[in-house]
Parts: sequence; structure tokens; C-alpha cells
Amino acid sequence: MTDTAPLDAIRKALAAVEDPEIPISLQDLGVLRESSIQGSRLRVVLVPTRLGCPAKGEMERRVRAAVRGVAPSLTVEVIWRGDRWTQDDISEHGREMLRSHGYDAGVEAQRRCPYCAGSDVKQHGSFGGSICKVPFSCRACGSTFEMLKSSVMSDLPATAGGPKPPHAEGRPLLRIV
Ligand SMILES: [Zn+2]
Repeated sequence: MTDTAPLDAIRKALAAVEDPEIPISLQDLGVLRESSIQGSRLRVVLVPTRLGCPAKGEMERRVRAAVRGVAPSLTVEVIWRGDRWTQDDISEHGREMLRSHGYDAGVEAQRRCPYCAGSDVKQHGSFGGSICKVPFSCRACGSTFEMLKSSVMSDLPATAGGPKPPHAEGRPLLRIV
């Protein structure tokens, strides 16, 4: 691979970068949005699934490592854009991947048990297996499941200003655990 690896090769490498939290690629997750080369600089635009998510650092590290593998001479500029990420940004392939790993990316109901659809569910603290997941249990059937915090804005204080975006509450990603 030369130092001037074509953008196609770089994009292919970027497309293989997996999310540190859930087993799909950043591209399928809708986090990886754009990549472009200007001279010796590669610009990569990412949209975080949740503002302040600590996985951002790891995502960025993985992106840089992927580019280094195919185009080590390029200066990588990672730009975190403040767009609101929602589950609608997950690709069809990404949804299939999530489903195969026990996530339900299509559930619109909030805080409902994925087994019995009961709404009498209890949240266990703020953190699940990671800071971006929230553990729940169902009082009706005793199942436990995780939700992935999907909304960027719902984690901001209400005083952050401006009207609440349509996805303010977010639709949780369900995972049967
Ligand atoms: Zn249940």
C-alpha cells in the first residue's frame, strides 16, 4: 500500500471499524458519516450516539488506527459533529447485525419488557455493562434486559436551552440478556 492510498481503500478500512460498545461497525451504526481527503489530510466526520459518551475516545482511536493501517502518511482529522443520532441512522445491515446479537433495534415502545411487553419494569441504576447501557428488569415476568441510551439530547439538563428535539426521549435499543 502506498502512502497515497486511494480513498476507496481508506473507506473500506473505516467501514470495518467496530463500535466499542455493541457488535456492529461505526458505519452501520450511523456514527461514521463522511470521509474526504484534502492534500495530506483525511477528514473523518463522526456523530456520537450519545453526547459525552466515553466510548468516543475509543471510537476515535479505532478510526485513527484503521487509517494508519492503509495510509500511514495521512494526517487524520476526526470531527465530532453535534447532529442528533437516532436509531433511524442505523443501516439495514446494522439492524440485522443487532438482531443477531440480541438487540431489538425496531422497538418503539419505551421501557417495555421485550418478553411480555409489560410496562412494569424497573431500572437498576444508571449503568449497565457500560456507561451507555442501562439495565432493567421486568416485574411481571422477571426477565432482565438492557437498553442502549440512544438519544443525544436527553442527557442534557433541561436548562440547556431550546425546545426539545423530536427524539428527546430517544427510543431505547433493547437487548435481551
Ligand atoms: Zn416481562
